[in-house]
Amino acid sequence: MEDAIFRRDRCTCRVCGAEAPSVFLRTDYVIDPERGGTDEDNMATYCAECYNEKHEKMIITPLEMMQARRAQLNQLMAWKNDNHRLGRDQVKIVKDYIHSRMLQDFTLNRAGDFQIEKHIRNYGLVSVLDKVDEAYFSKIKFKDDKITEESAVEFMKAIGAFLYVEQAGELDKAIRYTAGICRNNIGQYCWKECLRRLDDYVRALKPHYSEEQIILDIKSTVQKRTKYISNLPDWRAFMNNHELEMLRAKGKLA
Ligand SMILES: [Zn+2]
Repeated sequence: MEDAIFRRDRCTCRVCGAEAPSVFLRTDYVIDPERGGTDEDNMATYCAECYNEKHEKMIITPLEMMQARRAQLNQLMAWKNDNHRLGRDQVKIVKDYIHSRMLQDFTLNRAGDFQIEKHIRNYGLVSVLDKVDEAYFSKIKFKDDKITEESAVEFMKAIGAFLYVEQAGELDKAIRYTAGICRNNIGQYCWKECLRRLDDYVRALKPHYSEEQIILDIKSTVQKRTKYISNLPDWRAFMNNHELEMLRAKGKLA
């Protein structure tokens, strides 16, 4: 029911016109259900602030808003995908979110737009928004109630840096897990060599694939095949073949 009402109201607060994801949305009765209808016509979308005002007390706390934001974002994204909208919309979501945090002290220039677009392509919308929060809390500094320009620049840089660190962690985990499979199947002695070979593999792929794609390849193909190999020469041959296949797929080899 709530889903249908958000959709009908285009994720916009009926009172003030604020849109998700800049605000957290709720549905509520327009007229007290004891005096009005209880169907969808008597329900409307409200932002948290207007909802609280309507009930004349703080029913939705800031903490609740933070926790609910991710769920609402995922829902929003599902609809966007439904409608076959393009990546542009995702850039707008992140920009709106950054602007809502920056409180109009600063706006993103074209280079900033481009940077956001790149992050979304590499890491996905939800990760980017998470790192916007992390960067905001660790970098933004105020002077006379205004965000300092220096800290705003640091904030933008930190979003990329945090995303990179998180992703590097994922890739590292995938490599170590794969080397662990080798150790179990082939023997303790090969652990270090397998790690080195996997590092080389990643280095060869990196110019042509995103980190996300490489992680996916390791988790699906490399780990699955490694599970069925029980000696080092076979594993080496598999890795060499697979590396060639992956590069060929990108037209990098004849
Ligand atoms: Zn509102």
